Formats: sequence, C-alpha cells, structure tokens
Amino acid sequence: MKKIANYINGKLQAPTSGEYIDNYNPATGEIYSLIPDSDQTDVNLAIQSARAAFPKWSTLRNSERAEWLEKISNGIKARLEELALAESIDNGKPLWLAQSVDIPRAVDNFKFYATAIMHYASESHHTAEGVINYTLRKPVGIAACISPWNLPLYLFTWKIAPALAAGNTVVAKPSEITPMTAYLLSEICEEIKLPAGVLNIVHGLGSSTGNSIISSDEIDLVSFTGGTATGAHIAKIVAPKFKKMSLELGGKNPNIIFNDCDFDKALKTSINSSFANQGQICLCGSRILVQRGIYEKFRDAFVAKVKEMKVGDPMDPTSRLGAIVSKPHYDKILSYIEIAKSEGGQILTGGEAVKLDGENKNGWFISPTVIEGLDQQCRTNQEEIFGPVVTIQPFDTEEEAIELSNSTEYGLAATVWTSNLHTAHRVGDQLKTGIVWVNCWLLRDLRTPFGGMKNSGVGREGGWEALNFFTEPKNICIKF
Ligand code: NDP
Repeated sequence: MKKIANYINGKLQAPTSGEYIDNYNPATGEIYSLIPDSDQTDVNLAIQSARAAFPKWSTLRNSERAEWLEKISNGIKARLEELALAESIDNGKPLWLAQSVDIPRAVDNFKFYATAIMHYASESHHTAEGVINYTLRKPVGIAACISPWNLPLYLFTWKIAPALAAGNTVVAKPSEITPMTAYLLSEICEEIKLPAGVLNIVHGLGSSTGNSIISSDEIDLVSFTGGTATGAHIAKIVAPKFKKMSLELGGKNPNIIFNDCDFDKALKTSINSSFANQGQICLCGSRILVQRGIYEKFRDAFVAKVKEMKVGDPMDPTSRLGAIVSKPHYDKILSYIEIAKSEGGQILTGGEAVKLDGENKNGWFISPTVIEGLDQQCRTNQEEIFGPVVTIQPFDTEEEAIELSNSTEYGLAATVWTSNLHTAHRVGDQLKTGIVWVNCWLLRDLRTPFGGMKNSGVGREGGWEALNFFTEPKNICIKF
C-alpha cells in the first residue's frame, strides 16, 4: 500500500515515529494509502528547516522567487492528469471537476503570484518639503498554512504561493482526509530542486500535527482555511501571541432570485452553485430565496433538473455528483437531513443515501436534496451542512430578501439574480458578505479580495491582500 511521505528540508521522509493513519477512497469506502501521523518531532524539524532557509529565500530578488514559483506551476501543469486523478480518488469529486477546476487553479495560483510579486510596490508619501515617508514591506518569517479537504490542492496552493512569493518560508499541513495531491506537490518541489526548507509539508491529524504547528512559538503567522469552530480554537491560541492571522471559515450563503431575473440562467447556475463538488464548496449557495412571483415556477423547474442529476462513480464522465469526502461527513449530512425533517421540512427531492453497485457499493454517496417549508431561524437554515443539501423559500420584498440573507452568523458569499441594475447595486451594498456575485457564481478573478465577514472569517486572501498579509509593513520617515 502506498505510503505518503512528509517533505521536510527538501527531502521526502517518513514520520519519525513510524506511525501512519489510514487514508480512504470515499467512492469505495476502502483504505488505499497511508498518511504519516506526524508528531512534535516532525513539526520541529519542519520549523527548524524553514527557519534555516529563511535568510536566503527572503533576500532573493523578487524575480528569482518568481522563477521558482513558475517552475512549480509548470511542474503541476505537466502532471495535471495524474494530480486530477489523485484528487478525485482522495476526495470523491468527479474526475472531470478535478481536471477542469481544481488542478488548473493550482497551476494558476503559482503563476499568478509569480507574476504578482514582480509588480508589487510599496507606498511613499511626500509629507512636507524635505520630509518623505516610505513603506518597507518585508517578509514576516515562517508561515503556517493549514487547509481543508474540499478543494485540496486548490486551497493549499492558494496560501503557499503568496507566502513564498512574498519571501516567507512555509510549514504547511493539508487535511489528513485529502493529503495525496499535497504529497505529489512535494514530489514536484523535490524534482525541481526547490531550495531545501523553503516549503515543508507535514502530514497528520489537525488536532495533533496541525495543533503543534499553530501552537509553536517559532512560527510567525498563520493562514488557515477550514471550519468556524476550528478557526475559533486557532484564534484562541494564536491571538494572545499577537501573531498575524488570516482565517477563512464556514458559510451559509444565500442565493437570491428576483422575479425579474433571467430565469434560465438563474436556474442553470443555481444547480451548479447548489451542488458542485457535492455542495462541499464554502461558496455554494445553500439557501435559495426566490421572489414570490416566480417561486412555484422556479421551484418546480429546479426540482425537475435536480432529479436529472446523476450521482455516480467519480471516474464516470456522466456523474454530476461523486462521493461525500468521508464517512463522518456523510453521517453528518444525513443527520442534518433528519434534523430538517424533524423541523417540518418537506423533502422535494433526494434526502437519502445512494447505494451504487460494483466497486462503489460501499462508497459514501448522497442524492442532491432540496427542502422546502422551513423558517429562517431553524437549524437547517442557520448551520453549515456543507453537503448536497439546499433549502428553498419564498420572499416578497427586497428588504425581506436582505433581512433573510443577513440573518445567520455567517457572511461569506451571496448570489443575486436580477435584471435591474439598481436592485443589484442596492442589494449588493447591503448584504453582509465578503463576496457578492450578481447574475453569476464562482466567477473568480485572483486579484480580488477573497474572504468573509462575521463568523466566516477574519482577513482577506487574493491579489495584493494576500501579499500585504504575508509581509510586515514598516514606515520610514526621512527629513532631509
Ligand atoms: P476543519 O476546520 O475541520 O479543518 C481544516 C484544517 O484544519 C484541516 O487541515 C484540519 O486537519 C486542520 N485542523 C483541525 N484542527 C486543527 C487544530 N487544532 N490546529 C490546527 N489545524 C487543525 O475544516 P474541514 O477540513 O472540515 O473543512 C470544511 C470547512 O472549511 C467548512 O466549514 C468550509 O466552509 C470551510 N471552508 C472555508 C473556505 C473559505 O475560503 N472561507 C473555503 C473552503 C472551506 P485534519 O483535516 O487533518 O483534521
């Protein structure tokens, strides 16, 4: 059975304890590889090697670091098919999705920050005659980068690329549930001979390995993407040490559909924004709010389309939904469907586990589920389910849509469907979310600020925001 290795000080290496954790293929329910159960010793080695690499890496010219990032980007591109297959097996997502979204985006993340760092400038201010202020932006030090399982390589590289571009060295941990593409990334870094210690990838459980990384006094900043509860735990440890911290957390995103929308486009995109990646994207719209005038028409058309969606083997190009990432997560989603029923929700379609044949007979599959008849305050509409489950509810006025949208503890993203420009501006302005898509969804420009309000996080990733986060500004004031 394949054993994944840590990547520390430029070398692939076994965990010092010799202990491993089982890695499951969610589409078959079987163990197919082993992950290092890294302990404090491995974490210390990774941090030491990052510390040793920092002086040289942080003082390379931007163009030199850009070249290394280009090489990593090209290395990922050259192995795109292999990485996509690995991502699909590890995560359960359809292979076509990993080929068309996850891995190309990892290529782009490195390419984007390779070029961005070449154009990154700091400010200077002419204060008075003979006085000038300028801002030095220096790399912070060792960045701890922790990422979740839903978009494994995509989100892992979204942190690592700007951290490295800005001149930091990195100790990173992927989710123990989906470690394979992070491991393949370390193979790529080894192949291109990335200087030892610049990037260290340590595998293991969040509660032990991850916790050891973020608790270390030796790391200088933390970039975390994952659940809100984990984010709160990390903040408790990191905030009292006054270290920089970026937290990208959960969401409960509204998808607001006004009477005057382009019906067909709203319908088609809402299918995607509800169920892409089995609904396991933090940006999925899990609460569909439809204006009364088209509510029944939209609901019926939506349910009819959802019924056509094929849940199947992730390797089958006709599968729209693959497997749920893990048995505990599968159980959690099914338990939320039971909660929805107990709260009075009517299941319009789905609502159950799907049993497939052959190799997939023990896999974890759930049918895309649409639930009606729930009020905004119930658990189903307040808590993040993070699966192929959406609720649908009517609203009458723009004010009501805004109130419903803003009435959760989350504030990550929202989608608005309208053909009225004034409505789009007014609603976009009043939604308490970090991102608002109007008449589209998941259209990403890597230069834009990415992140959430309220319990969806602190800080922003993307573009200059990430480079600002991964550098320490210093004001120098000169009188001459
Ligand atoms: P978790 O919070 O469970 O885990 C995220 C990462 O943190 C994993 O690598 C995990 O390791 C690690 N971890 C867990 N505990 C600790 C700890 N004490 N110290 C350090 N690291 C720790 O999230 P999930 O992986 O379940 O991801 C799903 C969540 O991520 C959802 O809430 C989703 O909304 C959110 N998310 C947010 C995004 C955003 O941009 N705002 C984007 C994508 C997802 P391990 O898995 O090995 O336990």
